[in-house]
Amino acid sequence: MEIKNVTVAGSGVLGYQIAFQTAFHGFNVTVYDINDKVLEKAKAKFDNLAQAYKKDLQATDTALAAAKSNLQYTSDLAVALKEADLLIEAVPENPQIKIDFYKKARAVAPEKTRFATNSSTLLPSQFAAETGRPEKFLALHFANEIWKHNTAEIMGHPGTDKQVFDQVVEFAKNIGMIALPLHKEQPGYIVNSLLVPLLGAATDLLVNNVADVQTIDKTWMVATGAPVGPFAILDVVGITTAYNINKMEADATGDPLKVKTVAFLKENFIDKNKLGVATGEGFYKY
Ligand code: NAD
Repeated sequence: MEIKNVTVAGSGVLGYQIAFQTAFHGFNVTVYDINDKVLEKAKAKFDNLAQAYKKDLQATDTALAAAKSNLQYTSDLAVALKEADLLIEAVPENPQIKIDFYKKARAVAPEKTRFATNSSTLLPSQFAAETGRPEKFLALHFANEIWKHNTAEIMGHPGTDKQVFDQVVEFAKNIGMIALPLHKEQPGYIVNSLLVPLLGAATDLLVNNVADVQTIDKTWMVATGAPVGPFAILDVVGITTAYNINKMEADATGDPLKVKTVAFLKENFIDKNKLGVATGEGFYKY
C-alpha cells in the first residue's frame, strides 16, 4: 500500500524539519504535538526553513507555497492519525515518553499505519511490542538540517516485515533522502557508530595534551581527504552533546581520562557558553 499521508509526532528540532521536507516533496503531512501553543511555535519555523531551502536548494516560491499547503497541524492524536499511512515519531529521546506515546497512538491509528521512530540512540526492538504492530515498526533516522545532510538510515528490528522496510526505503528516496538501509539493529546506526569514536578519540588526544585542536583537525583532513576535522564537526554537533556522551561514559566506567575530559569540557566550554556554532564559539570562532 502506497504512502501518501504522513503524520509527524513531535514538532521540535528534528520533527519539524522532517515534516517540512516531507511536505516539500508533495506528501500530505500532519504535524502533531502536545498542545496548540507548541504547534504555534512550530508553524513560526516555516519561514526560516523556507529561507534555508531557498538558499541551499534554490527552492522557488511556488514550491514553498505548495509545501505550506501540504502541512496541517493538530494536537488531537486521533485526528492526526486518522488517515496516516506512515507515522514518524520524533518525540523526546526518553524511553518512557516514547512508550506512553506509542500506547496512545496504537489505540487510535488505523491498522494500515506504519510506525517509524527517529530515535538517535534507542533501538526499535525496545518499543516494538508497545506499538501493537511490531511487523509495521522500524527506525527511520534523519540528521539535523535534513535538507542538506540528507541521510535516512532505515533500521528494522528482527520482527519488521521486509515489505514495510522496503516501502519506507522507497518513501525516504521520495522525500529527497539518500536511503541507507541497515541489515540489522545497531546502536548508533552507521553514522554514530563511526562518528562517536572519532570525536571521542580527538577529544582524548586534546585532553591528553598530545596535540592542539588545529593540528588534530589538519592531520585528519590532509591524511584522509576529509573536508573538515573532528573539532569542526564537534562545533556543529554542539559541545553539550559531546559533554553528555562523555559524562555518561565517565559515570558508567569511572575511566580517569573520561573524567578529565568531562571536567575539561565543562570548565572551558559549557561554563563559558562556548557551545559551538550555535553560540558563535566552540573550538573555533564563527
Ligand atoms: P525536541 O526536544 O526538539 O522536540 C521534541 C518535541 O516532542 C517537542 O516539540 C515536544 O513538545 C514534543 N513532545 C513531547 N512529548 C510529546 C508527546 N507525548 N507526544 C508528542 N510530542 C511530544 O527533540 P528533537 O531534537 O527534535 O528530538 C526528537 C527525536 O529525534 C529524538 O528521538 C532524537 O533522538 C531524534 N533525533 C534528534 C536529532 C537532533 O539533532 N536533534 C537528530 C536525529 C534524531
